[in-house]
Amino acid sequence: MSFIAVIGGGISGLALAYRLRARGKDVVLLEGETRLGGNIQTRRRDGLVTEAGPNSFLDKEPATRELAAGVGVEGLIRAADPAAKARYLYTRGRLRSVPASPPAFLKSDILPLGARLRVMGELFTGRAASEMDESLGAFGRRHLGKVATSVLLDAVQTGIYAGDMDALSVGATFPQLSKLEREHRSLILGAIRTQKAQRKALPEGGSEKLRGALSTFEGGLETLVEGIARTLGPAVHTGAKVEGLVPGNGGWRVSVREHGRQAELMASQVVLATPAYVAAGLLRPLDEKLSALVESIAYAPIAVVHLVYAAGSTPPPDGFGFLVPSLEKRRLLGAIHASTVFPFRAEGGRVLYTCMVGGARRPDLVTLNEEALVTLAREELKELAGVTAAPVFTEVFRWTRGIPQYNVGHLGRIATIDAALARLPGLHLTGNAYKGVGINDCIRNAFALGDTLAG
Ligand SMILES: Cc1cc2nc3c(=O)[nH]c(=O)nc-3n(C[C@H](O)[C@H](O)[C@H](O)COP(=O)(O)OP(=O)(O)OC[C@H]3O[C@@H](n4cnc5c(N)ncnc54)[C@H](O)[C@@H]3O)c2cc1C
Repeated sequence: MSFIAVIGGGISGLALAYRLRARGKDVVLLEGETRLGGNIQTRRRDGLVTEAGPNSFLDKEPATRELAAGVGVEGLIRAADPAAKARYLYTRGRLRSVPASPPAFLKSDILPLGARLRVMGELFTGRAASEMDESLGAFGRRHLGKVATSVLLDAVQTGIYAGDMDALSVGATFPQLSKLEREHRSLILGAIRTQKAQRKALPEGGSEKLRGALSTFEGGLETLVEGIARTLGPAVHTGAKVEGLVPGNGGWRVSVREHGRQAELMASQVVLATPAYVAAGLLRPLDEKLSALVESIAYAPIAVVHLVYAAGSTPPPDGFGFLVPSLEKRRLLGAIHASTVFPFRAEGGRVLYTCMVGGARRPDLVTLNEEALVTLAREELKELAGVTAAPVFTEVFRWTRGIPQYNVGHLGRIATIDAALARLPGLHLTGNAYKGVGINDCIRNAFALGDTLAG
């Protein structure tokens, strides 16, 4: 029973199992579904690659590169097309390009003049009056003013969390902003100083590299999942749903329903790499308070609607895509110009829009049926981006608990969870609910835990 059981075969569990194996540990990965990947789900057919969940990652995380290299898919990393550089925001009645530099910001029409000047006034912002966790919205209004916060900052958080900026914790969702305030008082001043220091310390083009290229894999993100699965081989059990955990004999008895049959395994250590609400269920008989804390991590529902247009029926859109801040009161959170970003994902010059609907802002929309979601996405694309053609193919994915919401108090909650877990030796948690929602965060955190467990 010297093996470690990893429960959950999303990218967190897979990266952890890979790392443990690479560090010479025996590992068994138990995944409840018949497929691996969790949120990462790629569909490939007829020269079309669509993603049910995540679309891309920033190629700047060493752990992600190391994982891809270790499982033989590093050569399949594909960076976004240069045509995808521009980003757009829907505000004040039309799509406007997001300026890429401070001088361009001052000249742009992304915000009314008064709001742009208010942003420059950020240079004189004081530090927060207390060390208490603050919402992203409150933090933004203090630094950037009301308008810039509800247009720019809200759009940025929508693209990552699909959340409510007045509920999200700034320290948990954008720790780099809190750090800039702590160290430099003003975000603008902090950003200038950081850039200067980077330019000094890094070789030519180094800070570009630090930002990372938006990337996926040939064949979509599931290529990474497939590479890990091949490397782990028989250590991976799919269709193996974990139903209970009992401590004993210096380890853990794990009850599993594998392809309908009940089985028990004895593991020296167990890692729950499931969504928080599943982990909470497994923790309940062990520590009710801990379970309640884990269960209190909220999720925003989100629907993903793919609309594919025949070549020539609608102009290929410029840039990565657009986001819609909540003050616009639209039904779309945003859209990714997926075929502009990664042309190989829609062969033959077809145009693929990936529309996002719902989030913490409009959870009700995620309950619409597929037809209604396609109609909604088409109506919104027509009004916001002028797309009038009829799609030749549509596809809808609904995530009722899609993206974890790191609401105010999240960091304190995580510290309490960590302290409670320390009283259950050999039991650990990892996954997107705790210390970062992006693929890079999941892999980095899984690797760090793997290194700790491997000693
Ligand atoms: C619509 C959407 C778009 C996103 N876009 C991006 C993006 O572009 N870039 C980015 O970096 N991130 C993005 N994310 C976030 C990212 O996809 C996720 O945070 C990440 O994939 C989560 O991985 P995970 O392994 O922590 O969790 P999950 O993927 O949720 O995996 C958990 C696994 O546990 C399994 N499981 C559950 N219960 C049991 C049980 N009892 N026994 C065994 N197994 C169990 C599940 O079946 C699942 O496979 C997006 C997320 C969504 C939903």
